Amino acid sequence: MSFPAFNICKEILIDMHELSLAQNIIEMMNDAVPAEKQHRVKTIHLEAGAFSGVVPDSLAFALDCILPDSGFPKARAFIHEIPFTVYCKTCKRKRINNSGISICEECGSSEIEILSGTELILKAIELGDE
Ligand SMILES: [Zn+2]
Repeated sequence: MSFPAFNICKEILIDMHELSLAQNIIEMMNDAVPAEKQHRVKTIHLEAGAFSGVVPDSLAFALDCILPDSGFPKARAFIHEIPFTVYCKTCKRKRINNSGISICEECGSSEIEILSGTELILKAIELGDE
């Protein structure tokens, strides 16, 4: 698979991490949408965890840069930020943890389960008219 815009993006982008993520997303889109429908892709919705290591603006920029030349001429990406949420087994409560550290901010317990906030998910692909 080749990305004609890759070299241009490479010169503009400071962070290669988001460009490689954008390429992974396009590969997922290629797997999910049959070739004959790819030109109809209007919107893609991504969920990026607050501690996923993704910079949403950089990822949106990288996608804007490579989507048009990757078989998805009309596609726009919307990135929804997902808070880092943990379940504390000591407090038996679920809460948003803004520090991103894997401990309960209330009681300090490390007996927690990470519920969300570290993921990057291609949540939905919307197709428009022909
Ligand atoms: Zn707790």
